[in-house]
Amino acid sequence: MVDQGSGRDMIAAPSGPALSVVVPCYNEAEGLGELHRRLVAAIEPVFGDDFEIVLVNDGSRDATWPGMVALSDSDPRVLCVNLARNHGHQLALTAGLAQAAGELIFILDADLQDPPELIGPMLELIRAGNDVVYGQRRKRDGETAFKRATASAFYRLLDRLVDVDIPRDAGDFRLMTRRVLNVLQAMPERYRFVRGMVSWVGFKQAPLPYDRDARFAGVTKYPLHKMVSFAIDAITSFSVAPLRIASWMGVCAGLGAMLMLAYVLGAWVMGHAISGWTSTLAIILVLGSTQLMILGIMGEYLGRMYMEAKRRPLYIIDEVHGVRGARGNAVHQLHDTIRERVHG
Ligand code: UDP
Ligand code: MG
Repeated sequence: MVDQGSGRDMIAAPSGPALSVVVPCYNEAEGLGELHRRLVAAIEPVFGDDFEIVLVNDGSRDATWPGMVALSDSDPRVLCVNLARNHGHQLALTAGLAQAAGELIFILDADLQDPPELIGPMLELIRAGNDVVYGQRRKRDGETAFKRATASAFYRLLDRLVDVDIPRDAGDFRLMTRRVLNVLQAMPERYRFVRGMVSWVGFKQAPLPYDRDARFAGVTKYPLHKMVSFAIDAITSFSVAPLRIASWMGVCAGLGAMLMLAYVLGAWVMGHAISGWTSTLAIILVLGSTQLMILGIMGEYLGRMYMEAKRRPLYIIDEVHGVRGARGNAVHQLHDTIRERVHG
């Protein structure tokens, strides 16, 4: 069940560390060391030793997993999760969130595009009574004009189609309380648009404007086709507006058909029916494509219902390396590793 208790009152609860950092990683081997160095340097002054870093390897094809294991062996505050294959950014993030034991949860990308140093200002906004503080991008360095233009068009479209207030130009970079995470974990859907789900949860949420840096290493894992399917997932998860648009397209086509029919019958009665194929073909093309488009929109929803109805596990964990939910200082003595295999 969802814990409806006040998350802020529970920040110092004895169960887990004060902070869990969750980082999904796909082919990020080059940047891991720097990620760890900057994370620890940013968090230690604020949280001391009372934090854990959950790294999720999303079926990387490079040396990301051995890199994570080495980090976890040298720093017991690092817990790493190896997924059985590539499940995609949002499910990798979900897998990491499920492991997080902290009272506050800090989500960021592995490429250091989101500065970990913002943990301090974010924590201040949580202390001021917010449950979610999300980074809102003012500037995006090192990204192509095309990526910026498509991203901006996507957020604008989302804004128009979706009733939930999903903030513009905000990624998954955010700090949130345990009670928000508890609600998220009670949401079983497969097509996960985590930032939208967090907005859906509600409570008090505040933006923290920041300048997005260029990637520290590697290349973007979001080529155009992934961005398009990410956008369709986001829209269909939060809105049935496309179905309504499809209905309106049907209504418009119907009205047009009635006008055309009146004209055709009138012309026949008057005795000068036209013998042309241009008009016939035009009608077939317009009606045919409208119908296909409406079918396509319905198909998108139907396909998603089918996939959801299977109720398969969202992700498969191959291995968890490290000590779950442990605080740094308590773990220094433990130092051995829990290996756990989960077969889906
Ligand atoms: N990522 C992932 N699985 C994927 C694709 C991406 O875990 O299938 C991770 C990636 O390693 C990074 C984050 O998701 O930490 C965001 O990806 P990326 O930086 O490539 O996206 P962009 O910033 O270019 O939108
Ligand atoms: Mg990135």
